[in-house]
Amino acid sequence: HFIAIDGIDGVGKSTQIHGLERLLGELGMEFLTTRDPGSSEIGQRLRALLLESQLTMHRRTEAMLFMASRCEMVETTIRPTLAAGKSVISDRFLLANVVYQSVSDGPTGVSPDLLWQMGELANGGVHPDLTLLLDMPAEQALRRIEGPTDRMESRGAEYMESVRQSFLTELPRASPFTAVIDAARSPEEVQAEIRKAVENYLSA
Ligand code: C5P
Repeated sequence: HFIAIDGIDGVGKSTQIHGLERLLGELGMEFLTTRDPGSSEIGQRLRALLLESQLTMHRRTEAMLFMASRCEMVETTIRPTLAAGKSVISDRFLLANVVYQSVSDGPTGVSPDLLWQMGELANGGVHPDLTLLLDMPAEQALRRIEGPTDRMESRGAEYMESVRQSFLTELPRASPFTAVIDAARSPEEVQAEIRKAVENYLSA
């Protein structure tokens, strides 16, 4: 099983990923957690490049670097893990790449359709079975971030709300099973909803 989890910054993704790991453990599943971008030697270097706060780059450059990073992650980590019969949890996947690089804060955004197509090339046919989208209003999420820490987080509430809406719009294309999780509630309630979504998927 391949489960991806995504959402705008500040929705509590890291906390919920730990919970999801505990859940899969309880269910007796062997799994590996990966992070997109990252999770390969090249992926980590590209991640550092992408998040460096002094750098500016064209959105298409950015889109392709995210794609390249994921390609490495798929081929070095995800595909072999799935082939060995284990499950994968991915902290973000192609969906984030489509959403963040298409929502424009200028005239240079790339179309979602084109990004989904590039994703086919980058991912070589590997896609999640289930995508969990942690959702909450952008203003609320931004208040939970302790000040911008990287190039991507310094873009403001209006931009983040467009990103949130794009996540909701594009989610159905991310995988055969998808779930929108209301992340504005307590961590325990959010975890309970994630458990329900995973159990629904596993019993389908
Ligand atoms: O969630 P994570 O910490 O991995 O994300 C790192 C930063 O990169 C976040 O600020 C996120 O908004 C941004 N990002 C992006 N485009 C992507 C993936 C992440 O702008 N495709």
